[in-house]
Amino acid sequence: MTAIVSPKPAIALSGVSKSFGSTQVLKGIDLAVSPGEVLVLIGASGSGKSTVLRIMSGLEIADAGEIWVNDVPLHDSRRAKEIRGHVGMVFQQFNLFPHKTALGNVTLALIKARKMSKADAERTAMAALNRVGLADRAGHYPSQLSGGQQQRVAIARALAVEPKIMFFDEATSALDPELVGEVTEVMRELAREGMTMVVVTHEMGFARKTADRVVFMDKGVIAEQGAPEQIFVHPQNARTQQFLSRVL
Ligand code: ADP
Ligand code: MG
Repeated sequence: MTAIVSPKPAIALSGVSKSFGSTQVLKGIDLAVSPGEVLVLIGASGSGKSTVLRIMSGLEIADAGEIWVNDVPLHDSRRAKEIRGHVGMVFQQFNLFPHKTALGNVTLALIKARKMSKADAERTAMAALNRVGLADRAGHYPSQLSGGQQQRVAIARALAVEPKIMFFDEATSALDPELVGEVTEVMRELAREGMTMVVVTHEMGFARKTADRVVFMDKGVIAEQGAPEQIFVHPQNARTQQFLSRVL
């Protein structure tokens, strides 16, 4: 007889709490993300979504609880930096170096994170730009690119180091509406390829189509979670219903 073993989670949070000063912004978060899962975090501004992402990526240390990401115990501040280079982050602000080309921006990340030679880094960077459909813009500077293209360069920069997990924090919030689609399409493609992703977004269309699971956060707790159709069509929690009635 073969035992059925559920895959070890890529991310596991248990009892995670975090305060800033006297304000407790996370109040005992329990959450596991499976390899290949696309988890979308929704919730009002200030509910703690970014703090969860920052703790999962080792940028912020929790006050209490355990956080395992890719087998690294992130609750141990001495070991949190081990996760760098294994996770990729994409933020609302693209944070590209203005005086470097698209290729230069991605190459620099590789030279820093992977200690690659310039030639190897440029080859890998071109492959990453190709993945986001920007191989033909490699020589362009950020000012010569649209917001959507700049964000795709930022995604290429994160992908180039071959992360196991990708985090997106409102990656499309700074974009003009007509540029959102090209970025969410790249994100959908990554999801199809089996990337483990945790995505904070206001794009409910993306959440409905792409999420395996939607988590609704309210004032530092997970108020409700479930499959997209469950959350969007049959939300159980009054706070979820209220939130969705404002954003949908
Ligand atoms: P969300 O991403 O859902 O909008 P955040 O995780 O950014 O929420 O923030 C949750 C709460 O924590 C907010 O009230 C915010 O002002 C506060 N907060 C976040 N980061 C810090 C920080 N570095 N210092 C002080 N307060 C913070
Ligand atoms: Mg946020």
